[in-house]
Amino acid sequence: MVSITELLADQAINAYLFRMVGDEGIELLKRFPEGEERSDEELAELTEINLNTVRHTLYTLYEKRLAEYRRLKNSETGWLTYLWHLRMDRLHSVIEEEIRDALEHLDARLAYEEKNDFYICKDCGIIYTFADAAEWNFECPNCEEMLEHFDNELIATALRKRVDQIKESIGSA
Ligand SMILES: [Zn+2]
Repeated sequence: MVSITELLADQAINAYLFRMVGDEGIELLKRFPEGEERSDEELAELTEINLNTVRHTLYTLYEKRLAEYRRLKNSETGWLTYLWHLRMDRLHSVIEEEIRDALEHLDARLAYEEKNDFYICKDCGIIYTFADAAEWNFECPNCEEMLEHFDNELIATALRKRVDQIKESIGSA
């Protein structure tokens, strides 16, 4: 299994995790005993990161499927303890999923740009689709200025480029 230190050595992965859990979250990941499970309180003590931050980080990771817990019930007191462990082995598939989602979103946006014709009010800076503009008789509903055709080729080209880049990076071009 790849160690967290190795994962964090990858700049893209480091940046991705940093956006997700921040500085202290990264520290927690680094100091989490490899392959072991710990309660949030143990982790706070072990890493000297405050308990709320530890909890917040664990929940954030959990939401991304990158951490899991096991619930233990103390038979005498009935108290529950949550023992956490990391699932960094899923990191690559989690990132790939997010990229695919982003790609889907961009693809849909591109399709929208490609199949619509656009009109703009130069005064208000508002852009309308052909259908909307026609409904307003090509007059801006805001200021009654005549709408002008808006060339969206630059936007479409930029989107197309981005889509191609992403497809290339995940090897499905
Ligand atoms: Zn206007």
